[in-house]
Parts: sequence; structure tokens; C-alpha cells
Amino acid sequence: MKTEKPQVDSAAPETFSTELRVFTIDHLNNLIAVLTSHHYQVFGPIVRDKAIVYDEISSVSDLPVGWIDTQTKASYRLSKRAAKTVFSNYTVGPHSWKKYLHKPTTCLVSSDREGAELAIGDTQAEIPMQALIGVRACELNAIAIQDKVLLGGPFSDPIYRERREKTLLVAVNCGKAGGTCFCASMGTGPRVTSGFDIALTEINENNRHYFLAEVGSPKGEAILAELPTEPATELDIQAANRVIATATHQMGRKVDMTEIKEVLYRNTENPRWRDVSERCMSCSNCTLVCPTCFCTTIEDTTDLSGAKAERWRKWDSCFTMEFSYIHGGSIRTSPGTRYRQWLTHKFASWFDQFGTTGCVGCGRCITWCPVGIDITEELRAIRDSELVDAGAPKAKE
Ligand code: SF4
Ligand code: SF4
Repeated sequence: MKTEKPQVDSAAPETFSTELRVFTIDHLNNLIAVLTSHHYQVFGPIVRDKAIVYDEISSVSDLPVGWIDTQTKASYRLSKRAAKTVFSNYTVGPHSWKKYLHKPTTCLVSSDREGAELAIGDTQAEIPMQALIGVRACELNAIAIQDKVLLGGPFSDPIYRERREKTLLVAVNCGKAGGTCFCASMGTGPRVTSGFDIALTEINENNRHYFLAEVGSPKGEAILAELPTEPATELDIQAANRVIATATHQMGRKVDMTEIKEVLYRNTENPRWRDVSERCMSCSNCTLVCPTCFCTTIEDTTDLSGAKAERWRKWDSCFTMEFSYIHGGSIRTSPGTRYRQWLTHKFASWFDQFGTTGCVGCGRCITWCPVGIDITEELRAIRDSELVDAGAPKAKE
């Protein structure tokens, strides 16, 4: 199968498609209060440890009001301005929403020995309803990809399924592009197009600071109905389109997805992988920040008395030696072979397994790679090496 175009959201519309309402910035607190009154635990972006991360929130004052991020290869900085923008001046940070859906650690089995008997305990506390506020377009696409991986096919993950069913998604259209984003070339952003319950666009112009709200589901419609909203006008829609267009035009990186799968499958022995080997530290940061990486390992633990034992599922990374340990040895012994496996999975074999790309262009792996390895540069280098081999000039950056 040829993969000439990205398979996620490749025909993103240029404007909004559902019923649109507007509400003022003062009513954002009401949205959080309404969600809480519907028994949702509310999570959103907050500032902690000099980064914007996701955690529980109870009011707008918890959100990164006025904060701006600056991201580039191996660099992330926050600064604060007087502007009261809530979502529009930063993009994604080191956390992704997968920590609330496909959790970093999950106890699968717990057992207690009582004399000669073994009692199997209940490991799953009741999963609460949760509302995630501030979910970007790339992140909605990442959740859709994890849905395919963890819920598609004959075997689905019941823990992920329950969390997913109990989650309400309040998306936000991006008003700026992060320094490492490339969602526009992946067809996964910056406009939110599907998979949300409510989608907001923050508009702050002509002394009006307000949100344009788009309904994405009956659940979202019910929540929005409890807010004091008004119908959006044509001018509101134009303003929101301008916000999203700004993010699109700011985006400095891109990936050429033309036949990317075939390009990578042809280049398993490309010298570029050895070059990556010289730079990559196998730290696993790229896989841990990635919103689509889903690999886990299993760990069994006992207490010192041997009376209690547990089996835990934990996030794992294809960058560790142990990950490819088979029959007495690891089959990917160098950082370059591990990077090749990761990149080729994201942009080639993921299509074969799940019918979609494994990358949504969020740029996290570029920002948080301590040595600044840039997935867009590596893909371009592999593609360009074929042009050089064929005697053609390199593609323009
Ligand atoms: S591979 Fe990198 S850019 Fe792509 S989704 Fe994962 S973290 Fe984001
Ligand atoms: S590519 Fe960068 S982030 Fe990923 S393992 Fe290598 S050094 Fe770490």
C-alpha cells in the first residue's frame, strides 16, 4: 500500500462546521464550575517546575494566564507577559493527555498470602469521570491514534476503554505555533476538526476577550447549554479563523509525507542511522513525551515478607536495551538502530499496523531531546540522500 498522503485528518476544513456560540472570558470559570457540578474531575494546563504541564484545576486562576512558551531544539523557556491570554500564547509542553487515559503505571494484579491461601485483591479503584480542558488539535489526533491501538482489533484494553468512555474533551484551537510544531504538514492541526465534545477558540481583539465555542457531541452540547452564551456572528467566526491562520502561518517545520513509508523501507541501511548513533543518548525522553507512543512493560513485585505480590504495567521505551531482549540478547544494540526502529515505526510500519501515521507533529520529541535530534531533519536527510544518490539537487528546507 502506498502512503502518498498523511492518513490522519488529511482534508481538514478551512472553517467551522457545527453550531457556534460565544461567551466572554469571565464565563470560563462557569465552564469549569458546570463540569464540576456534572461530577467531572477537571484537568488542564498549569505552570509547574518552569514548564506548562497538565494537572487538576478548579478555576481559571490555575491556568497559565499570560504565560508564553518559547521552544526550539532541546530548549523550552517560559516567560510571563501582562496580557491575560489563557490558551493562545503557548502550545504543548512535556506532558501529554495520555497520562490520564493510558496511565504511566497501572496495577494489574494484587495477591495476598493468608496462611496456605492466596487471595487475589481488587486492583482497580473506581475510575472517575474526567474533563480535559485545553486539548490541542494534534493531541486529539494522538488520542484517536491511541484509540486505534488500544481499542481497535480483536483485543482491546478494558482499563483504557473505561477511562476513555468517562472522559470529556474540551479542545482549544491554537493561536500560535510552537517553535517545534509541524502539525500543519501532517494534516493534524492547528485547527481542531473532530474528536472533541466542545472546542474553544480564544479571541482577544478590539478590547473584547472571549471564546468562540463549537459543539462536538451531545455531552458537550449539554454542558454548553448551562453557560450564558450567545450565537456567534460572522465577525466572530472571521476573528476565530484569523487566530488559527496565525498559528498555521507561523509554523516553521514540516515533513514531506509523500511516499514516506516507501522511502523509509528503502533506507534501513542508510548511513544516517550511524550518524544518529553518534548523537543519541538513548535517554528515552522522545518516547516518554510522545502522545502516541504506547509501549509498556510488566513488572512483578513482592514485599519483603513474600506475603504480598503485585503485577504492574508501566510505560516502556524502545530506546532501552532491555526492550528488544530476545533469547539471551538485545537485537538493537546501538542507539542508531533503536532510533531507526522508532522513526520507521512512526512513519512506515504504523501505517501497516493501524492504517495511519504514528506521529501527529506535536514537536515534543524535538524540544525535549537533550541533544536536539530533530525528527523533521532526520526524515529530510533520509529523503535527500536518495536525491543525492540519484544526482538530483536536495529538496529546499
Ligand atoms: S514523534 Fe515527536 S512530533 Fe511526532 S507525535 Fe511523537 S513527540 Fe510528537
Ligand atoms: S533521540 Fe534524543 S530524546 Fe530520543 S533517546 Fe535519543 S537522545 Fe534521547
